[in-house]
Amino acid sequence: MVDEGEARSRQVAEGARETAWKKASFLRDLFLGSFRADLVFPYPDEPPERAEFGSFYEELKTFLATRVDPIAIDETGEYPPEVIEGLAAMGAFGMKIPTEYGGLGFTQREYERVMALLGSYDANLTALLSAHQSIGVPQPLKLFGTEEQKRKYLPRCAKGAISGFALTEPRAGSDPATITALAEPTRDGKAFILNGTKLWCTNGTLAELLVVMARTPPGDGISAFVVETRWKGVEVKRRCRFMGLKALANAELEFHDVVVPRENLIGVEGRGLKIALVTLNAGRLSLPAATTGAVKACLEICRKWSNARVQWGQPIGKHEAIAHKLADIAATAFAMESVADLAAEMADRGGYDIRLEAAAAKEWNTVRAWEIVDDTLEIRGGRGFETERSLAARGEVPIGIERMMRDSRVNRIFEGSSEIMHLFMAREAVDKHLEIAGALIDPKKRPAEKLVAALRAFAYYAVWYPTRWLGWSWWPRFRTFGALAPHVRFIERASRKLARSLFYGMLVFRAGLERRQAFLFRTVDIAMELFAMTAVTGRVRQMLDKGHPNAREAERLADLFCRKSRRTVAARFRALWRNDDVLQYRIGRNVLDGAHAWLEGGIMGLGRTAAELEPRAFVKRPAAGVEVHAISAPAPR
Ligand SMILES: Cc1cc2nc3c(=O)[nH]c(=O)nc-3n(C[C@H](O)[C@H](O)[C@H](O)COP(=O)(O)OP(=O)(O)OC[C@H]3O[C@@H](n4cnc5c(N)ncnc54)[C@H](O)[C@@H]3O)c2cc1C
Repeated sequence: MVDEGEARSRQVAEGARETAWKKASFLRDLFLGSFRADLVFPYPDEPPERAEFGSFYEELKTFLATRVDPIAIDETGEYPPEVIEGLAAMGAFGMKIPTEYGGLGFTQREYERVMALLGSYDANLTALLSAHQSIGVPQPLKLFGTEEQKRKYLPRCAKGAISGFALTEPRAGSDPATITALAEPTRDGKAFILNGTKLWCTNGTLAELLVVMARTPPGDGISAFVVETRWKGVEVKRRCRFMGLKALANAELEFHDVVVPRENLIGVEGRGLKIALVTLNAGRLSLPAATTGAVKACLEICRKWSNARVQWGQPIGKHEAIAHKLADIAATAFAMESVADLAAEMADRGGYDIRLEAAAAKEWNTVRAWEIVDDTLEIRGGRGFETERSLAARGEVPIGIERMMRDSRVNRIFEGSSEIMHLFMAREAVDKHLEIAGALIDPKKRPAEKLVAALRAFAYYAVWYPTRWLGWSWWPRFRTFGALAPHVRFIERASRKLARSLFYGMLVFRAGLERRQAFLFRTVDIAMELFAMTAVTGRVRQMLDKGHPNAREAERLADLFCRKSRRTVAARFRALWRNDDVLQYRIGRNVLDGAHAWLEGGIMGLGRTAAELEPRAFVKRPAAGVEVHAISAPAPR
């Protein structure tokens, strides 16, 4: 049974989906069992460096090295005004804004090189610049704004008018159907009156401009607006603070009867969520690049420390356990960079629908980055857990792995949590099947409709299914990939198996497939691994073809990466049908119902919901100057 709330959430998500696939999509075809090598090979060459970009990049590098102290930014929890001013003077707030609107007009790949540089140095600055131009005002205006809106706002943004994106609300996180912010049209229709609360708006305390999502009656659809924070009724209610990204200018915002002129509506009324989704297609590409920068920093740190640190008679890097980690970090860093560059190139080239590749790059890279930061902390031992200031006080090099760890965890949550990224990709993975056979498995369809659907499905699958078995994925295909050819052939074979598995999933689970998240998520994991393998094999071949001096080393990294990836893929395929999903779900539901609450005895009981907290349980700590909510007494059990 799907309850009303769930049905509404699905309806809103479906309404915001781009239903048409007007352009080529490598991953969509992969899910359908077609390995479209022509879409990705040859792997994009390194573009020649444009002088305008080169000079900016060098200036930024010098600026970071001489004027930005990431440790102080982390400790004070503030962006120094001179850093923001310096970035603005350089044009860093207008990197992706076209030159005719006063920006630097960088390509996605150029922008990503900057994100990688920043990601290797200061995550707070990465978030500031990325929230502004990946999801803030510039990106949706570039894609959906009127000429007038572009002329009005883009030059301001390029000069340094900081912007943010306000979608999340206290009760509306991953599920935008529950948004309550309301923008009611005025009687004369010339404006909207905006009321509501937005949570965790990055850049919210500094922003001059916001993209705000709100419901617009009478249709009640969600619309997107440019809102100026100087307008009457816009209030920063409080600044939010986090385990990492300490300087993030993140705010809870309130809107009280804010008059938003109709000219500030972005795109079509009621289509705001779709605008947000399309904006995020390219917007999501910042994180894959920034995390690549961060893991490259990890690689350098691990290489140097594993050589320098001697324990048990030899450098720790020579002990097999650490050597293996080093190899993994190097191979994965190479793969992450290959994935980020390939996705960015697709965005630059145009002609691709990159919604799946961007989601895969975001999800795959942020998870790999988290694992690598964790391994780096392990390799640094106790020093990995120590703050930079404490290391420096003892005369050691202040290497901030603990800061990096605090800063990087949220990458798996914002701009689409891991689960939501999987769901998003899974929905598209089964799209074609739903289009062909959806009516067959829909319990609400009448017998006559099912009959029509059955005939259509038969006609389609009679051709499609056998061809998912037939395919040449053995020698000599892809032999130009040399030592990596077996891996490329594996991708081709595995993509057909993936498509067959999804088809079987439809047959076995029918309408219940959409609830089989474990099954669907494994198929998404397989597709992401195959995408990463495609990126690394293609990149190595391109390096070999071009006579790149490091091509042979890259080939070794790619080989190691693909071997491991193939084992991951094989394990995921096995787990599709041999698993504990039903038992695990049942126990999860038992936990939910409190059947295992007995296990929670003997603890202080911090996991209470707001409703369970009594007013007396809040204590103030005036000394800190901040109101701290702590729990003073355990709840009675
Ligand atoms: C530092 C920071 C900065 C942020 N910046 C911004 C910003 O600039 N603008 C903005 O609008 N928002 C911002 N956010 C909000 C962010 O996008 C949300 O935190 C994110 O979308 C998840 O929403 P939530 O935290 O409410 O989690 P929930 O939606 O409550 O989810 C909780 C958990 O349940 C999982 N879950 C939810 N639904 C499903 C499902 N159907 N199936 C399986 N699992 C599910 C989630 O993946 C998550 O693990 C920011 C958040 C943080 C922490």
